Formats: sequence, C-alpha cells, structure tokens
Amino acid sequence: MADIAVVGAGVVGVSTAYVLARAGHHVTLIDAAAEPGTGASAGNAAQLSWAYGDAMASPALIRHLPAIVLGRDPAFRISWQADPDFLIWGLRFLANAPAARWWANTRAILDLAAVSRQELAALLLETEISCDYRLAGKLHLYGDAAGFRAAQAMVDRKNAVGFDQRMLTREAAEEVEPALRRYQGEIAGAVYTPGDALGDAAAYCRALTAHLVRAYGMTTLLGRRVCGFSTVNGRLRAIRFLDREDIAVDCAVLAAGTGASLLSREVPEARAIRPVRGYSLTIPLPSGAPRVSLTDVKRKLAFAAIGNRFRVAGLADIVPAGAGFEASRFGVLRTAASSVLQEFQVAGPDDIRWSGERPTTPSSQPIICSSRRIRGLYLNIGHGMLGWTLALGSARRVADLIAG
Ligand SMILES: Cc1cc2nc3c(=O)[nH]c(=O)nc-3n(C[C@H](O)[C@H](O)[C@H](O)COP(=O)(O)OP(=O)(O)OC[C@H]3O[C@@H](n4cnc5c(N)ncnc54)[C@H](O)[C@@H]3O)c2cc1C
Repeated sequence: MADIAVVGAGVVGVSTAYVLARAGHHVTLIDAAAEPGTGASAGNAAQLSWAYGDAMASPALIRHLPAIVLGRDPAFRISWQADPDFLIWGLRFLANAPAARWWANTRAILDLAAVSRQELAALLLETEISCDYRLAGKLHLYGDAAGFRAAQAMVDRKNAVGFDQRMLTREAAEEVEPALRRYQGEIAGAVYTPGDALGDAAAYCRALTAHLVRAYGMTTLLGRRVCGFSTVNGRLRAIRFLDREDIAVDCAVLAAGTGASLLSREVPEARAIRPVRGYSLTIPLPSGAPRVSLTDVKRKLAFAAIGNRFRVAGLADIVPAGAGFEASRFGVLRTAASSVLQEFQVAGPDDIRWSGERPTTPSSQPIICSSRRIRGLYLNIGHGMLGWTLALGSARRVADLIAG
C-alpha cells in the first residue's frame, strides 16, 4: 500500500482521504488552514442534491444572460477580467449551454451523485459521525406559471432515469411543508424531490478527519500551504511547502478547490476552474421554520434547517481568484431572504455571515483525472455548485484511478 498525500481538507479532500484510507493506504491530509472544512465547504447550503445535479451552463441561463450582464439580476454578478483564462472559461461555458450538452453534463453529474449517495450511506453506517445529516426532501418553488410549466420537461426526464420528482400545486406544496403558508413570495407551483437530503459539510469534514486519525492512523498536516511538487523523471516524489521541509510521497491527490488554480503552473488543468462566489446567512433555528429544504428558483435562494440552525445561501458572483468577499452582498442576500421569510427580517447577535468560492468548471463537471505533467499526481477539483453532493462519488472515482 502507498503513502498518499491529499492536498485540501474540504469535503472533497476529506472524502478522498476516507476512501483511500479504507483501501489500506497511509494518507497524509494537508491543508493551509488550521482545521478541516473552512474553505467553500464551511457555510454552503448543505444540500445533498442527489436528483438536482443540473449543470450551470444551460439554455435557460443563456436566455437570462442579457439581464445578468446588464446587472438586472441581483443574484448574479460578473466582474469582467482581462485574463485569457477568464475569456477561455467564458467561451467554454457558452459552448456547454446548448440543450444537448446541458443534458449530457447533467446526466454525468447525476451519475456521480448516485455513487456519492451510496458511499455516504455506507460511510454514515461505518463511522457514525455526526453532521446533522437528514433526509429532508426538497421543494423548488417556481414564481411564475410559465417557468413551472417548463419544469415539467425536466421532471419527466429525471423520472425517466429513475429519480422521484413530482410537480405540486401551491396547496400540495403547503401540505408537504406547512411553513409555506406564510411564504411571502409568489408560488405558481413546486417541484418536490422527497429523496434529497442535507447535512453540515463543515461538521462532516471535522468529524471525518478525527475519525480517520483515530481509526486509520491518518496523519494531518494543518496550517501548511503546499507550494508545489518535486519530481524525478516526471514522477512525483515529494510535496513542497513554503515554510517546512518537503514530505516524500508515492502519490498525491490535489483537492484544493479554487486554491488549485494557484498551482496551475505545474498543474495546467486547474486553469479550467473559476471561482463563483456565494454567500450565506445562518441564524439560530426559529420555531416553525421550514423543515423541508427550499429553493426559490426566481431569487436563486436555498433555505435549509441544519441541526439547530437555519441557513439561507445564494448569489453567484464570477470574480477574479482571491478577490475576497463584498460586505454589501450580505445585505442583498438578507433583503432577498427577508422578502419571502420573516425569519431573516431582523439581524441577531448570533447570526453568522459567510462567503465562499465555488470552484467551477465550464461544464459543471468536476475534473477527476491523472495529471498530464506529473505521474503519480491526481486531480479531484472543480465541483462548483455541488461539491458536497459529489464529494464521495468523486473520491471513489479518484481512488479507482489510483488503483488502476
Ligand atoms: C454559497 C454556496 C452554497 C453552496 N451550496 C451547496 C449545496 O447546497 N450543495 C452542494 O453540494 N454544494 C454546495 N456548494 C458547493 C460546495 O460547497 C463546493 O463545491 C465544495 O465545498 C468544494 O469543496 P472542495 O473540497 O473542493 O473545496 P474547499 O472546501 O474550498 O476545500 C479546499 C481546501 O484546500 C485548501 N487549500 C487550497 N490551496 C491549498 C494549498 N496550496 N495548500 C494547502 N491547502 C490548500 C483550502 O484551505 C481548503 O480548505 C455551495 C457553495 C457555496 C459557495
């Protein structure tokens, strides 16, 4: 069995470490942060969207593009960048938008999500880690009748490939989630996915890391930033750091989310990832808050009751890497959320504001492959909007690659 380093302790890296440790490898989990799960995985919308792996580049988004470009949709923002990688990413994004490509990408994502779902069920049984996992079900709320009617085609397609999704009237949706009776947004209808689940991705990262150290003797190297890879005749030999000596490894998996693009000189595949920044607000769980996860399609908001907290997440800002968050965007998120649910109307002292970068590829499919340049280095990056959903499936795929 091999000595394998996993670079990145977000949901993707920790899941990869788990599958590799279970296969008998000695794993060293490395992260620049002091604890696991502090990157994009920390405050996400918590959705395990087994049946909603819809690729971002789609005919619907292209129809909406003029409104986005003109700044008429507060949920989206594009910062134009004088960077050839940005231009190439944009062109490849557009090339993935036609209906046939969108469905091919979506199918591939759904297949990966199905692997994840199976792996997560086994993991929860084996490890008994606590991460507020719950089979919550999900309701996608459509504000206009035309949009709701158009959703029927997608639901038919999903049903045809085995997913349980149902078209509900507002009244039927209120039966499923009584808290919708006081939802102040328009609801022309809802798509209900009873099999979708949720869980706290950050708690998962922390608890699973602790389990791996305890049960599999995994080594952790936290608070250390990887700055490159040492090779001999094109074969990986060691991981390089700025502030400590190299560590020798047999192979490594790069699972550094948007951080991978900073290593793109050695790993050019990482250029295909752009950060799409999102925001969330988490408040103590109010009594009577919706228990079923909600997505407001028009406002692009996701609501989730996670343990004793209630969270809204949203916004998609295509920004330069490392640009940081914009404080005013929390105001945009709160205004949108409080316009439909009173829970977010008043800011409280225990509210948690969070922002993170979704590592997004033009096709929305993650990059799971061997490095072109460095033998023994594998990539598991670019999970975009769905990293929590796809983490364990991707981990399984990369472990299968390593196993040959
Ligand atoms: C607002 C929002 C809502 C979301 N909602 C959902 C959802 O409901 N469901 C879902 O499935 N997905 C969701 N996502 C997407 C999901 O959170 C991400 O796809 C996922 O967290 C990516 O995981 P990751 O492990 O690849 O990256 P990260 O979690 O960012 O982890 C990467 C880690 O690598 C480390 N790192 C980077 N560079 C280096 C380096 N050089 N050396 C050492 N360490 C390094 C970082 O410190 C970080 O800890 C959402 C994202 C956002 C922003």
